[in-house]
Amino acid sequence: MIKPIAIVGGGFSGLLLASVLGDEVVVFEEHDKVGRPPHCTGLVSLRTFRSISRLTGIGSEVIEGYFNELMIKPLSVDDYVVLKLSEPVVKLDRVRIEELLANIATSKGALIKVNHVVTKVSPDGTVLVKNQVGRFSTVFIAEGSSLRLCKFLNLCGKVIEKLVGAQYLLKCYKCPDEGIYVLTSSKLTKFFGWLISYDKKLLLGLITRKDPSIKLKYLLKMAVKEFNLNIKEVIKVFGGPIVIGYPRLVPYLGNVFAIGDAALMVKPISGGGLYGAVRQVMAISKSFNPPKDLSKSKYLRLMLTTVLNIYSQIKLLRLILSTYGTYDSLIRSLIRSGIKDVKVIDYDNHLLNVLTNLVKLLT
Ligand SMILES: Cc1cc2nc3c(=O)[nH]c(=O)nc-3n(C[C@H](O)[C@H](O)[C@H](O)COP(=O)(O)OP(=O)(O)OC[C@H]3O[C@@H](n4cnc5c(N)ncnc54)[C@H](O)[C@@H]3O)c2cc1C
Repeated sequence: MIKPIAIVGGGFSGLLLASVLGDEVVVFEEHDKVGRPPHCTGLVSLRTFRSISRLTGIGSEVIEGYFNELMIKPLSVDDYVVLKLSEPVVKLDRVRIEELLANIATSKGALIKVNHVVTKVSPDGTVLVKNQVGRFSTVFIAEGSSLRLCKFLNLCGKVIEKLVGAQYLLKCYKCPDEGIYVLTSSKLTKFFGWLISYDKKLLLGLITRKDPSIKLKYLLKMAVKEFNLNIKEVIKVFGGPIVIGYPRLVPYLGNVFAIGDAALMVKPISGGGLYGAVRQVMAISKSFNPPKDLSKSKYLRLMLTTVLNIYSQIKLLRLILSTYGTYDSLIRSLIRSGIKDVKVIDYDNHLLNVLTNLVKLLT
């Protein structure tokens, strides 16, 4: 056994955990590089970013923008609903942060093995990688939304929906004012998009069920019209799958734990997988005394509020969508009712906060 703990997957969750556990771990990554694909927008609450900082020492060099509000705008309507945030949302440089996490992990003695696909994990901590068997005291599966190993072990919870996120990174001759604009459309159901203007760049993206490239082109056309964009260059087009579902209350089997997207720790709407992963790594760091076993009861206790938060936000989202049909009709009806300023307490609990604020405004 090369190290007592194995982490399967060198994405954000696996690298964050490796940067905390250091010398005790080996990370197996199937690609030739860790931290890829860089599919993510990188929005987190300042509080979540501070937790990353406390866990790793990474500072504000990875922050590309600070935002105090979200402007929600149906395409072809001039009005906005403004969600005011009690503390900023920050946009992280996702490629840079994963490079730094990998450096921190290796400088603390973690082994990172790229081009190593794990094909099987057993509850006793046995891992099959490159046709070799290794036995570990603890295995963390951080395989992302592929859920290949977690599904086999029945570890990932209940998947409700598989969505796709896609985005353009653009350079403009003149960008709109810095901000986050969330876009809805009456023409596209099960859809919302975003336009983030920061640091003289624009990120234009969307979440949808299928045909992301056709919808992304449509969104670009609409955004050019609505925001008078004069685009200089498409820097890149990128994206990836997003799974939404109820995480398991007990995300382990024997010595094997699921973390990150693999455990469905994804807050809906804001694509908030980083929040869930950070909360898990914080809980692991407090309940683990490597190389001894992780105190499972302490870990579960520490994770309970986060799991319930994700759970209730997904339930709420489904309730909202079953009532209004689409995001677009919800936003249009808020605008029609004159509700244009909603004070949101906390980005990490945004759906619950929006609902309580709406109830207050309506009563
Ligand atoms: C378009 C888009 C926008 C998003 N925006 C945001 C946002 O603004 N804020 C936010 O918080 N979240 C956002 N997310 C979600 C966020 O990107 C994910 O939650 C996060 O990347 C999950 O990290 P992870 O480490 O769990 O999984 P991943 O980043 O997917 O990493 C998994 C890693 O495991 C490796 N792997 C998989 N299987 C194996 C195997 N069998 N053996 C070895 N290696 C394996 C993969 O190659 C990969 O490197 C967004 C996602 C998308 C697609």
